[in-house]
Amino acid sequence: MTNHHIPDEIGTAVSVQLMVFGNTGERSATGVGFTRNPATGEKEFYGEFLVNAQGEDVVAGIRTPQPIAELERIMPTAYKQLRKITSRLERHYKDIQDFEFTIQDHQLFMLQTRSGKRTGHAAIRIATDLVDERLVSAKRALLLIDPGALVQLLAPVFDPVAWAGIPVATSGLPASPGAASGQLVFTADDAQRWTATGKRVVLLRKETVPDDIHGMHVAEGVLTATGGMTSHAAVVGRQMGKPSVVGAAIQVDERRKRLQIGELVLEEGDDISFDGLTGEVKIGSVPSQPSEILQVVAGNLPAAKSDIYQRFMRVMQWTDRVRRLGVRANADQPDQAEVARAFGARGIGLCRTEHMFFGEGRLEIVQRMILAETEAARRTALRELLPLQRQDFYGVFKAMAGQPVTIRTIDPPLHEFLPKREDLLVEIARLEVTKPRSRRLGEKRRLLRRVEELHEFNPMLGHRGVRLGISYPEITEMQTRAIIEAAAALGKEGLTVVPEIMIPLVSDVRELRDQRAVIDRVAHTVMTEQGVTVKYLVGTMIEVPRAAVTAGAIAGEADFFSFGTNDLTQMVFGFSRDDAAKFLKQYQARKLIERDPFASLDTTGVGAFVEMGVRAGREAKPGLKVGVCGEHGGDPASIHFFDRVGLDYVSASPYRVPVARLAAAQSALALADAD
Ligand code: PEP
Ligand code: MG
Repeated sequence: MTNHHIPDEIGTAVSVQLMVFGNTGERSATGVGFTRNPATGEKEFYGEFLVNAQGEDVVAGIRTPQPIAELERIMPTAYKQLRKITSRLERHYKDIQDFEFTIQDHQLFMLQTRSGKRTGHAAIRIATDLVDERLVSAKRALLLIDPGALVQLLAPVFDPVAWAGIPVATSGLPASPGAASGQLVFTADDAQRWTATGKRVVLLRKETVPDDIHGMHVAEGVLTATGGMTSHAAVVGRQMGKPSVVGAAIQVDERRKRLQIGELVLEEGDDISFDGLTGEVKIGSVPSQPSEILQVVAGNLPAAKSDIYQRFMRVMQWTDRVRRLGVRANADQPDQAEVARAFGARGIGLCRTEHMFFGEGRLEIVQRMILAETEAARRTALRELLPLQRQDFYGVFKAMAGQPVTIRTIDPPLHEFLPKREDLLVEIARLEVTKPRSRRLGEKRRLLRRVEELHEFNPMLGHRGVRLGISYPEITEMQTRAIIEAAAALGKEGLTVVPEIMIPLVSDVRELRDQRAVIDRVAHTVMTEQGVTVKYLVGTMIEVPRAAVTAGAIAGEADFFSFGTNDLTQMVFGFSRDDAAKFLKQYQARKLIERDPFASLDTTGVGAFVEMGVRAGREAKPGLKVGVCGEHGGDPASIHFFDRVGLDYVSASPYRVPVARLAAAQSALALADAD
């Protein structure tokens, strides 16, 4: 299976043609070319040729070919004819042509022509030029752009020559695109310390956890040894627009701060570079340049000064004219929401509230809440969290300027907010020697006891999602209060916000009913206190197979559904989303599976659950709003499927919003064609 997902077993077509010879002497030549520049998209005749040679010689690189402009001087008649034919070919096929030719004794022969491969930059330029030249309509131009190529436009890229000059040391899963180059650091705290002194770092972890967020923020990129396409580093990397490669073939010794790639050992401070678009990792430092479009979005470059930005926005506007599917973003910080809106997201499809628990000064309160031994003590900690969460929601609502925002109640198992058991054991052993009577030692022992109590053999199938809300309704109460108070405050400022409160991991309608009762009760109390009315919706994620099967009943309690295809894939396959990368490569190599199902939806199996859930939900409640917020919401092939089964919207990480808009437009065009 190649990058383009064309199976290798389908074979290669062969055309048998009469041979012509470009190597009969100085009156003969052979060459290859493009009707436009495939790297920049500029409208220029582009290519190279060799006199007295066969095609083989050009491709093999034994002799250095000459630029095609030289041909005009040496063989003007053949050149003129070549220009005429290739222009005609481009007009006929209505796309940039990649052609091969041979001149035998001054007579021109065309060997082949096909649509040319192009960079993301060129794809946008060619599409807009072809429309301006009236060669194609805007709709057809949309079909000429590979949505995957847009990703290149939004990520930093390496200097191609410098990058090509270094051998690949290892590779991993290309989780979040972009060029990253910097000095190796092994902890999030080190990342923060080193960058504070002006260094550029690459954060290397065995795997990342929410507690690493501050390091991920400042690093040039994040590299991990384990994890798959929906692991923490991958999901958060994409959401932040941070280059990430996960599950790389490396060994990490976090304690000794050492990285081993085969025989090679690297230490803290050594230079490393990786490309999040291909998954390749190289040793050393490589210069890169930022995306021009992102520079405009960030306000560092005026839009009027960027030709590519303007063309990109034009293409994006065309997508809006043809697509049926809505596009939202997964974002949980106001800055992410702003990027998403700049890229045309119409709302937030998933705000993971637990990400907010890792902000400045919050983790300590969250830990106090978890360590509380009584409900009263837990409520005290929650009261401290309330104003911080309210401020978070206020910021996100404001950034989205009244567009819908789906906020999910707490989802991960609580132990994720506590330190690792091994780290605590080390610290306790140290304190037992250095400060045996200290209060700190007592605190650490208490923390260890709670960490051990919370230990689960299968945390992803354990005490998480709605199950937490059922055990600790006071958490749902605090989150609801924060949401409604933030919406009420904005309402008073003249901005109407309709929050969509979403419950994760529901498998039975009774769980949703239970939580809905808590939400409704608190929402009404807040409204009475504030003397205002806030319209809000309560919905659920459909991410447990049982929820899809019983979606009809669940719809009775839900104002909307959002498919969590990350967990749904995990549970339908029974593949752990954090561990499957280890064997999925083998599965792909042995053709037991075509694509990583965490990256591109398995439409046959997982898709059947989605289809079933949509159908049953809408049968019970016609017009039920249904979206998807798993990582598949940013994958073009999956988006075609979601369009076909009638979802209302997809939600993707902010930097994949343009990809989703284009894929949704292409899907609409394909579906209209099929009618
Ligand atoms: C999902 O499971 O698809 C989802 C969006 O939730 P999370 O990735 O946070 O589990
Ligand atoms: Mg989930």
